[in-house]
Amino acid sequence: MSSNFPLSHDELVKITKDFPTPFYIYDEKAIRENVREFIKAFSIFPEFREYFAVKACPNPYILKILAEEGCGTDCSSLPELMLSKMVGLNGEFVMFTSNETPASEYQYAFAEGDIINLDDITHIDFLKKSLGKLPETICFRYNPGSAKHGCNSIIGNPKESKYGLTREQMVEAYRIAKENGVKRFGLHTMVASNELNPDFFVDTAKLVFDLVLEVKEKTGVKISFVDLGGGIGIPYREDQKKVDLNYVAKKIHELYENLIVPAGLDPMRICFECGRPITGPYGWLVTTAIHEKHIYREYIGTDSCMADLMRPGMYGSYHEITVSGKENAPKDHVYDVVGSLCENCDKFAIQRPLPKIDRGDLIIIHDAGAHGRAMGYNYNGKLRCGELLLRENGEVKQIRRRETIDDLFATLDLDGVKNFE
Ligand SMILES: *Cc1c(COP(=O)(O)O)cnc(C)c1O
Repeated sequence: MSSNFPLSHDELVKITKDFPTPFYIYDEKAIRENVREFIKAFSIFPEFREYFAVKACPNPYILKILAEEGCGTDCSSLPELMLSKMVGLNGEFVMFTSNETPASEYQYAFAEGDIINLDDITHIDFLKKSLGKLPETICFRYNPGSAKHGCNSIIGNPKESKYGLTREQMVEAYRIAKENGVKRFGLHTMVASNELNPDFFVDTAKLVFDLVLEVKEKTGVKISFVDLGGGIGIPYREDQKKVDLNYVAKKIHELYENLIVPAGLDPMRICFECGRPITGPYGWLVTTAIHEKHIYREYIGTDSCMADLMRPGMYGSYHEITVSGKENAPKDHVYDVVGSLCENCDKFAIQRPLPKIDRGDLIIIHDAGAHGRAMGYNYNGKLRCGELLLRENGEVKQIRRRETIDDLFATLDLDGVKNFE
């Protein structure tokens, strides 16, 4: 079940007077409570850390809230590293899990003391050339290939995925890093996205812990932290169940006791770098129904589009939709709820039973707090919407304004074009 929208119809209508739709709104209180619960579940480990995946919701206000709750960040680009820095996060609190990384980004991360997570064995040499030496701490990303099955379509079969090192390369990489004076080592993997089966994460931990032992045996390298990646799903559909984090933590802890402790590797830090389960259920896209159309199907046209939320169009993802003020009305109409893009995949919902929708109704698209606004783009000259934060005291703060036409044209030389023949 997706979590409840925190505002009554009247409260929402009042907000739209100051902030016209479309906009994202995030619930600070719910995000804080949720991340505390997440961290608490894993606090049975000696040194657990959650590195929030910035790409899921790259807004510094959200990052600041999460930093206050003890999270670090997981970054994949220079701007994400910079956003982290803005909210006081660097060093041990930043995991730089990038791929196809330019030297300049490694240099920035190194200067900040961020943890660099290498995506390939050849990047050891690349990093050494980029920095003049290797950092004291290094992490490698493991791709288990055909050793791991059952992944879903977002990330694909590990064997076909571009990320990480093979098992043989992992062992070799630690050997090389050690010879080059690296002192502290991490091991990372991420093989699923939006996975709801809790045992999947336990199996992944087993695979990783086995590799930790193999690395120690073959190279003498003691891994001091294991990053189990992101990929913990959320129940987008009403019939789906939230991942039981206490179960996941307990089962991984058993493996830790049975494998890591006897090998003399305790304390070894366990980390996740989840985005989706942290903010996903606590962000909503609010849009207005501005058109209705009756052809072969019934359509509701909104003032938003795929440029604000592309998951449905890109992955065919399901997002629950409610109509503000009509939460208890019978769902006796079937609609395609669509955006304004000149792409037929620009549909927030397809053949969805909903209450009768009238022009002017406020449509709430649920579970949009991760990989929502962040994935937006400007195709068709669309201007991305802004972001609001519902504070714990009930105030609403704009944490990102909507884009303007000037923003869209900012990269063009408009004077130049006047003289262009
Ligand atoms: C996308 C990504 C994450 C976060 O994934 P969620 O599904 O949002 O938890 C974490 N780590 C890496 C390397 C990623 O690419």
